[in-house]
Amino acid sequence: MKKVAVNDREPVVLEENLQRRGLSEPLETSNLALNHYRIGPGEGFPGGIHTHMDQEEVFIVIEGEAVFETLDGKVTISEGEAIRFAPGEFQSGKNESNTGLVVLAIGAPRNSEDMRIPVECPECNHDNVRLDFNDEDGLRFVCPRCGTKQTPQNCPECGDDDLRITLGDQTQTIVVCQGCGTEFETPPLRE
Ligand SMILES: [Zn+2]
Ligand SMILES: [Zn+2]
Repeated sequence: MKKVAVNDREPVVLEENLQRRGLSEPLETSNLALNHYRIGPGEGFPGGIHTHMDQEEVFIVIEGEAVFETLDGKVTISEGEAIRFAPGEFQSGKNESNTGLVVLAIGAPRNSEDMRIPVECPECNHDNVRLDFNDEDGLRFVCPRCGTKQTPQNCPECGDDDLRITLGDQTQTIVVCQGCGTEFETPPLRE
């Protein structure tokens, strides 16, 4: 048996208004990832719209209200409600309210090796690409169908490396630079 007091855990401060307390490690979970998030107004979970092909995710709103962007539009999850995303369902959670948001995030199995973003492959038009990180090449997008690789670049306007996929006015996705707010139809790529 393992017991932990959530508030005793030192948070990882991901942004000024975004704290994550990892609970998988102190609880020594073997098959699930467990994270407690405090998300300030206007902030969101790290990263943009994505899915895990090899992990399901559940979010339980403990305090406040979360808005999840999906490829079918937005879904609001209020205090006391929970939402589950199956492997392959694209999503991104945000706090669009003006008060705090506290969410418990559960993923199973604990580790994910196959994270995708809704970016089209330029060769075979497959509708998503896998994120591939390695020390040599950094971040690359790899088409799961034909293997074509693309290398994203930082924002051409301001150099920020935090570019996130978000919903546009309709249900199409756009890419927004978190540094300067410039919007792109597709992620800026290196030649
Ligand atoms: Zn392809
Ligand atoms: Zn920028």
